[in-house]
Amino acid sequence: MENYPIFVRLKKQPCLVVGAGPVALRKIRLLHSAGADITVVAPEICEDLRAEMSGRVDFVERGFIDSDIDGYRLITAATNIPAVNRRVSRLAQSKNIPVNVVDSPELCSFITPSIIDRSPVLIAISTGGGAPVLARLLRGKIESIIPASYGHLARAMASFRDALKIKLADERERRIFWDKIVQGSIGELFFSGRNEEGTKELRSAVEKISSEINFSGRVALIGAGPGDPDLLTFKAVRLMQEADVVLYDRLVSEEILNLSRRDADRIYVGKKRADHAVPQNQINQLLVDLAKEGKNVVRLKGGDPYIFGRGGEEIELLAENGVSFQIVPGVTAASGCATYAGIPLTHRDHAQSCLFVTGHLKDGTVNLDWKLLATPNQTVVIYMGLLGLPTICRKLIAYGASEHLPIALVQQGTTKNQKVFTGTLGTMEQVIKGQKVQAPTLIIIGSVVSLQKKLRWFNANQ
Ligand code: SAH
Repeated sequence: MENYPIFVRLKKQPCLVVGAGPVALRKIRLLHSAGADITVVAPEICEDLRAEMSGRVDFVERGFIDSDIDGYRLITAATNIPAVNRRVSRLAQSKNIPVNVVDSPELCSFITPSIIDRSPVLIAISTGGGAPVLARLLRGKIESIIPASYGHLARAMASFRDALKIKLADERERRIFWDKIVQGSIGELFFSGRNEEGTKELRSAVEKISSEINFSGRVALIGAGPGDPDLLTFKAVRLMQEADVVLYDRLVSEEILNLSRRDADRIYVGKKRADHAVPQNQINQLLVDLAKEGKNVVRLKGGDPYIFGRGGEEIELLAENGVSFQIVPGVTAASGCATYAGIPLTHRDHAQSCLFVTGHLKDGTVNLDWKLLATPNQTVVIYMGLLGLPTICRKLIAYGASEHLPIALVQQGTTKNQKVFTGTLGTMEQVIKGQKVQAPTLIIIGSVVSLQKKLRWFNANQ
């Protein structure tokens, strides 16, 4: 982020504008509507500015002198003489007074965004001063989807704030109350322009506020898929957009996380093999505690929560504590990686069944039902199997699988870093030797892997 966005209170604050042409007038209007005490310094005041602002601002009709900047809270330079603009900027910055020079981002210590004014709702857009045209374009778009009613609703809410404070002392309960108002039928009334009705309903909602409101939160355990954000379900994204807090782990990418509501708190509870950042029982408890605080909690899990995702363990404690929850399935690594690698998990000529197993046991060993895994005409998908790969290949051969049976290792499947290594049970150890294989990886074993050369489509040139 190039700039830190803030809204500055300028009511009755002394502000200086150097320059008095049409550009200065635009800035003066905004400063005036923010309630600033404005002084304008310029040898000549343009007619429009004088007509519109006489009596509302102080005019100092002469050229700018260095001492003019003393005592101001905010300074704007909008002259058409670059040297003067530069001087104002340098002086202001030497005294740590925020300064904006119109159309010269390099001389500014703050920039003014494009705004959509639905006061008290104010939306500001910035392109870092580099592409104001784009900001204006965006503003047009946003203007058209944010009706003036947002301002009415915000004003109505402000007018009942004190009354609500008396009724509901708890800040969290007030927040939940407002959430319900804004997203419920009263919000709808305002958005459809029925402000008076909305205000009436809001008054009665505040008056008869009672214990009927359910202040407890809820938890959504969401499968975030194997990596590609486009593989999220609509339901996942909708719930992520409503979240107050998002718990996520290592398998969930930044890109996916960014689809959550922007001001939701993010809590990393990731684990790596043998390195549990937050112990599982603490995660379970955290979910319960956050929900009991009234939060709308989203727990994001890589892939599908119920496939090697400990989803069951996390939900158990919620159920025991009577916290309301729901589970959103996700695309599991097996189906995401197989699809993006070009490997059908079943195929009438190759595999009539498919096994999902984990290659990593709690004690760190690999101990699987080798006889079952070595059965022909099936596909075996192994999660968390990279470390155990040599053992897996050797054991399968020892239990009767052909050493020519194809095997694939999919690295970071469905992401732009996806890589597919293929070989046979006999050669795979050699294939990946010396390769810098990056976690997470998934192993697919079976003759379906032989179709990969023909069916691959994603990152096919790799
Ligand atoms: N619940 C998850 C699995 C969690 S176990 C799911 O349904 O997919 C973690 C293992 O999943 C990793 O060790 C790896 O084997 C596999 N995995 C998850 N995402 C992957 C990806 N994008 N590419 C390859 N393997 C992945």
